[in-house]
Amino acid sequence: MLKRNIIFNPGPAALPLEVLKIVQEELLDYQGSGMSILESSHRAKEFEAINDQAIALVRELLGLGTDYQVLFLGGGASTQFALIPMHFIDDGQMAAYVDTGAFASKALKECQIVAKAHVAFSSKEEKYRRVPKMSEIKYPENVAYLHICSNNTIEGTQFQEFPNTGNVPMVADMSSDIASRQLDYRKFSLIYAGAQKNLGPAGVTLVVIRDDFLAKGKKGLPTIFSYQTHVDNKSLYNTPPVFGVYITKLVLEWIKSKGGLAGMEKINAAKKDLLYNAIDAAPDFYKCPAEKDSRSWMNITLRLPTEDMENKFIADAKKEGLLGLKGHRSVGGIRFSIYNAVSLEDIQKTVDFMDKFRKSS
Ligand SMILES: *Cc1c(COP(=O)(O)O)cnc(C)c1O
Repeated sequence: MLKRNIIFNPGPAALPLEVLKIVQEELLDYQGSGMSILESSHRAKEFEAINDQAIALVRELLGLGTDYQVLFLGGGASTQFALIPMHFIDDGQMAAYVDTGAFASKALKECQIVAKAHVAFSSKEEKYRRVPKMSEIKYPENVAYLHICSNNTIEGTQFQEFPNTGNVPMVADMSSDIASRQLDYRKFSLIYAGAQKNLGPAGVTLVVIRDDFLAKGKKGLPTIFSYQTHVDNKSLYNTPPVFGVYITKLVLEWIKSKGGLAGMEKINAAKKDLLYNAIDAAPDFYKCPAEKDSRSWMNITLRLPTEDMENKFIADAKKEGLLGLKGHRSVGGIRFSIYNAVSLEDIQKTVDFMDKFRKSS
């Protein structure tokens, strides 16, 4: 029988089994073409169809119009940390950054290399245990954009609402919660996300950018670094991550089959409720470092009374087939990364394990 563990890896992360099965089935002969998609030219009609479908699915699922361009790029979300300030901050201007965690502060740091940044809020002194209230986000009105990281993957916090920025374009790193919930994605002028958490395998970065913001982008950047280049060429200026885009398309179809983002949100809400309820039911044993109002639906961080107990928890969980629970090396503890592909059934098994572990400790 097929052995499948429950995969809580933070990224690259679990993929839906249904998707992996399609990949397996189609791997040697992609839809009667007599070749693998791994062997296909990115200019072949087979890949062009995949690319077009993936673009259309992103627009459909996120509720974006054709005034948003959809790109599948290489380089990871980290490349976007640098490309965004390179494009959009004019000489003498600055951009505003909300500093809510390790990745948000990396984005800020990259901005400071190429331009000036205004820190609109920081919870660094509070060990990034929370995201701000909307009234705490402050910036001058002439900034080039406001940058937010919607879900803080390492610290386990997430924005449940976003500021109304008026004329200031809002840019978001949604690497770890894209397509996990319903949201007014049209509030954002640019959204980027490494695919390897909620959308697909490592190697693909989704960028969506609205036309009016794109038009403000600097000219004269090296060709490969220019968003306009990739928009003009439908992400086919150079060889895109072909296999990754193919799998991403399959994951997007899988999300659609689950009822789109409304369906995903319902499942994800039930998952996080189960887990947080299990944590809150045993407050002397299980503690969540993130503040209640800021808790993430995607990355649930957990501390036990001692580090030894945490290590035993991780080791015992592994024996039961629950993998990838070690917290990020910078913060320690335990982390459940419960992206779209982790099922409600998986979480039920997890809370059963947590209950058993606590009673035997
Ligand atoms: C994983 C992650 C990144 C880094 O993505 P790379 O693709 O490794 O560059 C950036 N931001 C957030 C929020 C992440 O979760």
